[in-house]
Amino acid sequence: MDIAVCGGGIGGLTAAIALRQAGIEVDVYEQTSRFARVGADINLTPNAVRALDGLGLGPMLRANAARPQFRISRDGRTGAETSRIPMGADPDERYGAPQLTLHRGDLMAALEALVPPERLHLGKRVAGVECGPGSGPAVSFTDGTSVAADLVIGADGIHSAVRTAMFGPEHPDFTGVVAFRAVVPAARVAGTPGLDSFTKWWGPDPDTQIVVFPLSRGEEIFIFATCAQEEWTEESWTSPGSVAELRELYRGFHPEARGLLDACDEVLKSALYVRDPLPQWSRGHVTLLGDACHPMMPFMAQGAGQAIEDAVVLARCLIEHADRAEALRVYELARRERADRIQRGSRSNDWLKSAGNGDWVYGYDAWHTPLPTH
Ligand SMILES: Cc1cc2nc3c(=O)[nH]c(=O)nc-3n(C[C@H](O)[C@H](O)[C@H](O)COP(=O)(O)OP(=O)(O)OC[C@H]3O[C@@H](n4cnc5c(N)ncnc54)[C@H](O)[C@@H]3O)c2cc1C
Repeated sequence: MDIAVCGGGIGGLTAAIALRQAGIEVDVYEQTSRFARVGADINLTPNAVRALDGLGLGPMLRANAARPQFRISRDGRTGAETSRIPMGADPDERYGAPQLTLHRGDLMAALEALVPPERLHLGKRVAGVECGPGSGPAVSFTDGTSVAADLVIGADGIHSAVRTAMFGPEHPDFTGVVAFRAVVPAARVAGTPGLDSFTKWWGPDPDTQIVVFPLSRGEEIFIFATCAQEEWTEESWTSPGSVAELRELYRGFHPEARGLLDACDEVLKSALYVRDPLPQWSRGHVTLLGDACHPMMPFMAQGAGQAIEDAVVLARCLIEHADRAEALRVYELARRERADRIQRGSRSNDWLKSAGNGDWVYGYDAWHTPLPTH
């Protein structure tokens, strides 16, 4: 079976690796010409780590990541601690996998290393997909070339060209919230309390927060701040931000939080978009995974985790069901309800605000949860 994966992000590469490990050849088509180590994190909760462990990525993840010791909530203005949930060894005991925070570039490099270069086609921007009945799907690229495949997986993110080809043009909604992301060397902010933990500084309104946690074995600190903004006029949805703007926006925060912002040299600024859950993920022999079908707000840190879970479950379905239409039907049955629930839940910024229970999210096992039969 020839499978074309459109998009070589976290979900697309995970799907390619899971399928290759089962002996199914896959070609990945990625628009960028090379992967850059941009200043951003990835916060992998136990459900995502367990899924990647099944691909053999565990040792690399653990070697390059940090393990936040607690999940701490603090009042942004007064600094008062409102909750503290153990995270260090606790998730390992509870869910069979840790929570790991690492540089997004390190995860991408590890995934890329497991896909043979001749199967990873860089600089190939998907223009469209023919997914009509009768013949197999064909992917066309903006350089005028095209490829035929038995099955196409659209893993091309929130602005998915595959999704547009399947269901028509539609624009995600700007949520009125922007996010700032920065990575600073831990040595520069040494002395700040709680740098070994995930700390969320809750702001005066639901859109305003600062989240801080360690990356890269604790050698780097990641800062993630969100706040409301009326409109987004930039053409790109991520752009270099201004550290002066960042510091001004959070000037009312506690001095410990402000001290971290003062340490930033540069910052990325992103507009946060959402879509409503899709009623259908597949058409003919074309399907979607990850942000292409369920982009979500970052408040539950599940966007990449859900893309990874989709990839593993889709591979299992294709391995178990020789009939591709049946495989895609089972994939959607297995995945849509959970992804929809998390996508909706991510819209409000209240996940684990007070000591709560994240078991239904973190306890999921993408490799062993039985596939539905009808
Ligand atoms: C500010 C912010 C913070 C986040 N923090 C977290 C977090 O801590 N934990 C977490 O789990 N998730 C987080 N997420 C979400 C996470 O980044 C995404 O959900 C995840 O990257 C989705 O993976 P994906 O593979 O579906 O899409 P993407 O990672 O977007 O990958 C899509 C790939 O497709 C390529 N592509 C796009 N269009 C085309 C085309 N036409 N042709 C060919 N290639 C194409 C892109 O270049 C890209 O490589 C965050 C998101 C944001 C915005």
